[in-house]
Amino acid sequence: CENPKPTGPIDTTMCDYETVESVNGDLFSNIHELVRTPFFKYFQVDLYRDCPFWDEHGSCNNPGCAITTVDESEVPLKWRARALSKVDALVENRHELPGCYYRDSDFCWLDDNTEGDYYDLTFVPERYTGYSGPEAHRIWRTIYEENCFGLSEFSLMDGKAPAAVTLPDTMTDVLREDGVNNNQCLEKRVYYKVVSGLHASISTHICAEYLNQTTGEWGPNLHCFVNRIASHPERLQYIYFNTVLLLRAVARLGPYLSAYDYCSTGTRQDDVETKGLLLNVISIAQKAGKFDESALFRGENANVLKEEFKAHFRNVTRIMDCVGCDKCRLWGKIQTTGIATALKVLFELDEKALDPHTNANLLQRAEVVALLNTLHRFSESLEAVNKFRRMWADMGSSE
Ligand code: FAD
Repeated sequence: CENPKPTGPIDTTMCDYETVESVNGDLFSNIHELVRTPFFKYFQVDLYRDCPFWDEHGSCNNPGCAITTVDESEVPLKWRARALSKVDALVENRHELPGCYYRDSDFCWLDDNTEGDYYDLTFVPERYTGYSGPEAHRIWRTIYEENCFGLSEFSLMDGKAPAAVTLPDTMTDVLREDGVNNNQCLEKRVYYKVVSGLHASISTHICAEYLNQTTGEWGPNLHCFVNRIASHPERLQYIYFNTVLLLRAVARLGPYLSAYDYCSTGTRQDDVETKGLLLNVISIAQKAGKFDESALFRGENANVLKEEFKAHFRNVTRIMDCVGCDKCRLWGKIQTTGIATALKVLFELDEKALDPHTNANLLQRAEVVALLNTLHRFSESLEAVNKFRRMWADMGSSE
């Protein structure tokens, strides 16, 4: 009956839990403001593509799943689709599907910015929506099943599930086979931690802003948090793990992000404010983003393994089109794109590639926005975890 706080080194990183704890308050206050600036709050995405893996993907009729778009005229001119597609046209080595594509270095399918609506992310909190049951379980199960390296016949790369694949009956089967096991290669363990950490962070948001069906009131639900997260300490640990991974990507991108043009109105006021907040985030990332990316993808089959890792994570980004709740799909797309951007920065790009002077078009705006919004979500989860710890302690002292 404990609500334990993890201590010591965070496995497969060079950082410890205490360091992340010590910077998170500062990180959250800066990044929470940052994602409210015009550059970071508008996101364009096509939420209504067909699910490429199965026909019936259901839909969430709960009003909590609904989402409101913003009119293109509200979005600063500079960040509208037409302006962006000019930059996009320069991208080489594109592999296309209708409406989206990937480049060889990408870990995700990206929107090609010609379709899709705009959303103001500050109006779309990630919280309880009521989306659940077999449909939601099927998405999570399929995502965990992508952690299946070395079995090329299992690949969903072409956007179609091969008929011969038999899916395990229950999530427990998948987890028994694919959960973190120290005999597995490092890359497979990292993949699992990334996915399980994302799942845990989404669950934390659901429990932190939960709808009490009886009273109709929103609020934190400690029972939900204990059931879904605290009673599985490794899930909480993977939230920290993902935070360190994202921080490391932001730290590596420091010079690139510092040189980026955030100006949206022409007065340069936004640019100055946004950059000030971003520089604070980068400096925190330099302290706590201690992930050793050079420990992965070494040795004989490194390139084959990396290509497989990339292909599997790209599939995860495509599986998001199968999520039957608009709001969940939006955040699913943003966060898988954000993590994919971090993975690309860590495992694909060297110092030369990251140089803003030689490679100004390295990242699309959508990738930068997704990366920082995803880090915001994880930092917010750690804030929520602290609140749940206090609720737990208060409950103990009142007994
Ligand atoms: P689920 O969270 O569905 O988990 C299924 C099974 O997976 C569990 O029984 C357990 O065995 C295992 N599991 C759970 N967590 C982990 C973990 N961290 N690591 C490893 N294994 C685990 N719902 C909302 O209310 N709001 C949202 O914003 C939202 N966003 C979503 C985004 C995506 C991409 C998806 C796929 C679903 C989303 N959902 C959202 C649904 C939500 O994640 C749950 O599926 C739903 O709340 C039902 O929860 P559950 O308790 O049945 O278990």
